[in-house]
Amino acid sequence: MASDQNTASAPRVRIPEATIQRLPVYLFRLQALQAHGIKKVCSRELADELKISSSRLRHDFHYFGSFSRPGHPYDVEPLIARLRDILVLSEPIDFIIAGMGNLGQAMATYAQFEQDGFRLVGLFDINPKIMGLNFRGVTVQDLEMLPDLVRARHVPLGVLTVPASAAQSVADLMVDAGIRGIWNFAPINLKLPANVVLHDEFLSASIMSLSYKMKTMLGSNGGRRDSGA
Ligand code: NAD
Repeated sequence: MASDQNTASAPRVRIPEATIQRLPVYLFRLQALQAHGIKKVCSRELADELKISSSRLRHDFHYFGSFSRPGHPYDVEPLIARLRDILVLSEPIDFIIAGMGNLGQAMATYAQFEQDGFRLVGLFDINPKIMGLNFRGVTVQDLEMLPDLVRARHVPLGVLTVPASAAQSVADLMVDAGIRGIWNFAPINLKLPANVVLHDEFLSASIMSLSYKMKTMLGSNGGRRDSGA
């Protein structure tokens, strides 16, 4: 995600990556509170639930202006609206997926994206057996159709779930068509122009870092059960 997008609510200072990653976490938590009818929350309560310090939370919010008067709790509803605005979620964001194998199909069937503000508008693959399949009302098309759809609908965001060997060429196709943000799941370092935002999701790296944290927090056997041998 870009940290310096030119929106009405975007600050001029560069926002730390860790702060950006916490914004959706704040949003999810506040939406859960709202679902339980809670209208106000103080920074300490919100921070405790998220296992961070309240000064960290206030510091994060401070990048975007003050969200409450000092000493007063946050109003949940306007804070949600503000966070959605900061995350540029006030209007649905169209996205496409290229590579409709195991992972692409799982992503295409994940209905929560829509509720979070992301609208699936195109699915692409090169396998004729997969073309024509329909996921949540969107039909898988030949990859060749990708540029036309992206250009016609000004689609800003592409999800890349093709094999690593095909990832760079499909990413280039997306970029040439006008895609400006790529969520890449292929284990490869893509080379993209500076005006394209890349977010890599290397799932194996995530599980390795979880395993490392388990080792450091739970001891040298990483919390594995004793085999009893
Ligand atoms: P998969 O083989 O099930 O699906 C890949 C799909 O991409 C296939 O449908 C194939 O026809 C299509 N494809 C191949 N070349 C293409 C091209 N040029 N244009 C468009 N489509 C093309 O693979 P998968 O398990 O879904 O994984 C997809 C990617 O995500 C891989 O790079 C993989 O390493 C990565 N990944 C997958 C997982 C997982 O849990 N499945 C986890 C981490 C990372």
